Amino acid sequence: MPPSSYQAPVVGDKEKLTTVSQSAETNLSSTSTTVADLLKDKDNNVICAHLDDTIATTVTLLRDHRIGAVLVTDENDRMQGILSERDIVRKMAETPGQTLPQKVKDLMTQKVVTCKPSDLLINVLRKMTDGRFRHMPVIDDNETLMGIITIGDVVNFRLNELEYEALRMKQMIVG
Ligand code: AMP
Repeated sequence: MPPSSYQAPVVGDKEKLTTVSQSAETNLSSTSTTVADLLKDKDNNVICAHLDDTIATTVTLLRDHRIGAVLVTDENDRMQGILSERDIVRKMAETPGQTLPQKVKDLMTQKVVTCKPSDLLINVLRKMTDGRFRHMPVIDDNETLMGIITIGDVVNFRLNELEYEALRMKQMIVG
């Protein structure tokens, strides 16, 4: 799927090739793509677990929503951590046969790295790669949770952009 701003050009439609929002210059500057651009194309419902939920409940949540991580919240819905399938696998190796009854709060990562809607996607990708994690909650300036993006979302978005950029270049060459 092309980026949401993309309008497929019609053959001979020179006007579209030169508008500001669709100019080659704006669309080839992929380094200016922000987290907000990605969120526009995504279902931003964030799946959360509570601190005292068991791992047994949480693996069902992960399976049912086909996701790899949940945000962990307290009774006031404040973010307290993140728990991913990696944390569960690690614990299963450490405590074989005894992991499912354990509490989310005992396995989660407490210090969550977040990003803002205005952050450049390229910087977020770098943070995820450097930190070796694949999930990043998006928090706006009012401390509101806007969604969670995954490394898969970022790569997929970038692939769509690259596809679109290739198309634009082809159009510029062919005229
Ligand atoms: P992941 O690759 O996202 O499955 O997570 C790998 C490890 O990083 C797990 O221990 C997670 O709890 C942790 N983790 C995931 N996302 C974040 C994040 N945004 N900030 C800090 N730690 C994270």
